[in-house]
Amino acid sequence: MALVVQKFGGTSVADADRIREVADHVARCRRRGDDVVLVVSAMGKETDELLRLADRVSKTHPGREMDLLITAGERKACALVAMALHDVDVPSASFTGSQAGFITDTNHRNAKILEINPHRVKEAIAEGMVPIVAGSQGVSADKDVTFLGRGGSDTTAVALASVLEADACELYTDVSGVFTTDPRVVPTARKMPTISFDELLEMTAVGCPKPAMRSVEVARTYRVPLHVRSAFTWEPGTWVVEEDPEMEQAVVSAVVPDTSEAKVTVCGVPDEPGIAAGMFRALADAGVNVDMIVQNVSEDGVTDISFTCPKDEAGSAASITEGRFAGSDCTVMTDDSIGRVSLVGAGMKSNPGVAATMFETLATADINIEMISTSAIRISCVVRADDVDRATQVLHDAFALG
Ligand code: ADP
Ligand code: ASP
Ligand code: MG
Repeated sequence: MALVVQKFGGTSVADADRIREVADHVARCRRRGDDVVLVVSAMGKETDELLRLADRVSKTHPGREMDLLITAGERKACALVAMALHDVDVPSASFTGSQAGFITDTNHRNAKILEINPHRVKEAIAEGMVPIVAGSQGVSADKDVTFLGRGGSDTTAVALASVLEADACELYTDVSGVFTTDPRVVPTARKMPTISFDELLEMTAVGCPKPAMRSVEVARTYRVPLHVRSAFTWEPGTWVVEEDPEMEQAVVSAVVPDTSEAKVTVCGVPDEPGIAAGMFRALADAGVNVDMIVQNVSEDGVTDISFTCPKDEAGSAASITEGRFAGSDCTVMTDDSIGRVSLVGAGMKSNPGVAATMFETLATADINIEMISTSAIRISCVVRADDVDRATQVLHDAFALG
């Protein structure tokens, strides 16, 4: 008998039929003899709809009220799943993040879990029930409801699996696992039976939406066995493992497209010590998540600096930067028509030539590279947003990933 935490994403609980299918799925797992703890996301695109509603009502979006609003989506799904389980004779009880013991910091919209006291969840399991926990939420030290950020239900599930010492954490979604690239962009993308934590972290850091990056970090830190799989079939998905078991690691494992970032360029910055330090400190203090940074060779004592950041932070990043250089000859430009395509592979460390093949492939497809960054197991190129899908397709072919 195993204890399994199962998380169902938005598409997996999108409507009444899907919710009843989740209940059937849980009933079958119970008949097999497993104890199940559920974590659910908001139904379908409800989180987006709640955010749009807030935009229509208010300009100020107070964090405390926003978090109460957004987390309502997960609570609604939770209660409905509990009702569906009741109908198939599975005793269950729904819990908000707070009732499930998730204590967070006070950083609304993107709160971090400080500790989990899952007494009530444990009691429910001991009584033979299926606890259903609302994803992506908790209660702060100030006793306010907090939201763990977009994709936070994955983090709820993995963190809960860790404190419950579950045998596995299963993330159910609308694809059958982690693929060699986004299957919506490249239909020949292949499901990977296993992937290493290092590779998956790199993939999520450069835009792969599944699983949420923070959940992968928690799973790696607390050694939670993580299984990404389909909510629509029983086929095995992708297991996330410490080291890839293959003797020779694949040189390139995955291609990751991303169009969620914008580029900010500051032209005519004085090339002297402390300029970049002051600029990026100001951006950090304002909570801007700066990603790739490129500085040009200086001419006549001035240089250009470009960086990328999430599109919805680019406006404030540009005004902070303009403010810092007000009264000088610097100009600041924002470009939100950029995209990024990245190659990830643990075998890159010991195989030269991956970058050359990547650049040649993009050149043959007449795709211009605007910025480049690398890590030991990743190469990323910024290109025009319109070129991202084509770049992903040609690279997926060039490295024979299909
Ligand atoms: P959920 O709502 O279940 O948490 P998301 O919608 O956040 O799931 O993420 C699942 C989507 O991620 C899939 O529909 C798929 O198109 C997309 N995706 C992008 N890249 C990949 C990849 N490499 N492997 C699997 N899915 C990917
Ligand atoms: N519903 C939230 C979101 O869409 C949290 C989650 O699904 O993980 O981001
Ligand atoms: Mg999601």
